Parts: sequence; structure tokens; C-alpha cells
Amino acid sequence: MVDDNRGIVPCPWPHRVRCLKRVTTLSNSETGAYLRWSELNIHLIKAHGFFEGKGSPFRIEPAELIRTIFTG
Ligand SMILES: [Zn+2]
Repeated sequence: MVDDNRGIVPCPWPHRVRCLKRVTTLSNSETGAYLRWSELNIHLIKAHGFFEGKGSPFRIEPAELIRTIFTG
């Protein structure tokens, strides 16, 4: 499921990257795996290697990401 909202959110690093307020939710009904990420998450991981802080609503645990996306 993709939830597309109006507006943009800036990257907190000092450059001009702005991301759409789009949130994607992946749910695997067979395994029960669930993962949610934003456009900003993609940028933060790719450009900064940052998965957001522990306790953050949009924190992505790297091991969970690997398990959900790259394994059955
Ligand atoms: Zn950035």
C-alpha cells in the first residue's frame, strides 16, 4: 500500500534534498512480516547510511529490512 500525501519533507542534513510525503507499507500475509518506509527513509539510507534513531516512528531496523525484503 502506498499513502501519498501533499507536501514535501526536507532532509535534515544541510543540503537541498526534499522528499515527497509518501509512505509505503509492505505486509506479507504469509509470514506476518510488516515494514513501513517513507521517501525520506530511502534517501537517508542511500545518501547517509541512516536508518533513523531507535524509538523513531520511522526507524527501520536493518536486520528487519533485510529479512522482510530480501528473504522469503
Ligand atoms: Zn540528505
